Amino acid sequence: MKTTNNTTIALLLIIVSALTACSQASQATIATITPKPFGTPTHVITPTQVVTPTPRAFSGAQAYEDVQYQASLGPRTPGSEAHDQIVSWILDELKLANWNAEIQELQNGQTIKNVIGKRGDTGPLIIIGAHYDSRFIADQDPDPNLRSQAVIGANDGASGVAVLLELARTLPDNLPFRLWLVFFDAEDNGGIEGWDWIMGSRAFVAALQEKPEAAVIIDMIGDSNLNIPIEQNSNPALVEEIWQVAKNLGYENIFLNQPGYSMIDDHTPFLEAGIPAIDIIDFDYPYWHTSQDTPDKVSAASLEIIGKTLSTWLSTR
Ligand SMILES: [Zn+2]
Repeated sequence: MKTTNNTTIALLLIIVSALTACSQASQATIATITPKPFGTPTHVITPTQVVTPTPRAFSGAQAYEDVQYQASLGPRTPGSEAHDQIVSWILDELKLANWNAEIQELQNGQTIKNVIGKRGDTGPLIIIGAHYDSRFIADQDPDPNLRSQAVIGANDGASGVAVLLELARTLPDNLPFRLWLVFFDAEDNGGIEGWDWIMGSRAFVAALQEKPEAAVIIDMIGDSNLNIPIEQNSNPALVEEIWQVAKNLGYENIFLNQPGYSMIDDHTPFLEAGIPAIDIIDFDYPYWHTSQDTPDKVSAASLEIIGKTLSTWLSTR
C-alpha cells in the first residue's frame, strides 16, 4: 500500500511541475504577443462545407436579353464606339464566367479584333464561333433611303454572340477537351471598298498554331421562325453528329434533314485549311441586311434551341 502512496505522491509532483512549466511557458508566450489593432477579428470562422455552385441550364431568356443589349448599343460596325463597347463587354462576360479571355489583334488590310475565351489544358481543340460585328450598310433594305444606314444586326451578329456567352456561363468546366469560344470581328462587310466578308475568321485561321478537331459556326440563329437546313459546304460527319443531338432533343422540326444554301461564312477559312467545320445558319430571313433586323424578329425560344443543342453536343462528346 505504501508503494502505492509513494507512487501517487510522485505522480502528483510530476503533474504539478508539469502544470507549472506550462504556466511559465504560457506567460512567456503571452509576454511576446503584440496587441492587435482595434477592429481585427479575434477569431476566424472556418466554413465547414464548401458549396460548389451547380451550373444552371442554358437560358434562352438570358440570351435574348443579351441580344437586346447589343442592339441597344447600335450597329457594331468596325471603328465605331459600339464596336469597342461590345469587345469590352464580351471580354468581361467571359472573365466573369471563369474563362481565360483575350483580344486577338491581327492585321490583314484592316485591324481585326477577335475575342477568344479558352478553357481546358489537354485533349483535342474544339472551336465554337460567331461574328460580333454588324454591316456598314443596309443595302438590302426595301426603302432605298435606308440603304446607307448601318445594320442593327439583332439576328445577323447579336444572336450568335448571345448564344456563345450563355454557353460560356452554363457549360460544365470539366469537359474532356479544350474549348475555345471565338467571337469574330469583321465578318459582314463584303462588297464594300477596303473590306471583304469573313476577314476576322480568315485572320484567325491564318494565325492558328494547331489544327482543331472541329469548328462550329453559328450565324443568324435567332429568327423567331427558325429553320436550320444543312448548309451545303458543311462537314457531313459533323452535321450528322449535331443533327442527331438536335433530333434526340426533339428539335428535328428545326434542324431539317435537307440541304440549304451554300454559304461563304466564318466556317469557310476552316474548311479551306482542312479543318472539319459547319455553319449552323437560317438564311431564310427577310430582314437580312435591312434596317429591320431588330430584336423583335428574334425569339428566346430559338436561341434556347441552338444553345441546348450545342450544350448537349459538347457535354456528351
Ligand atoms: Zn450579315
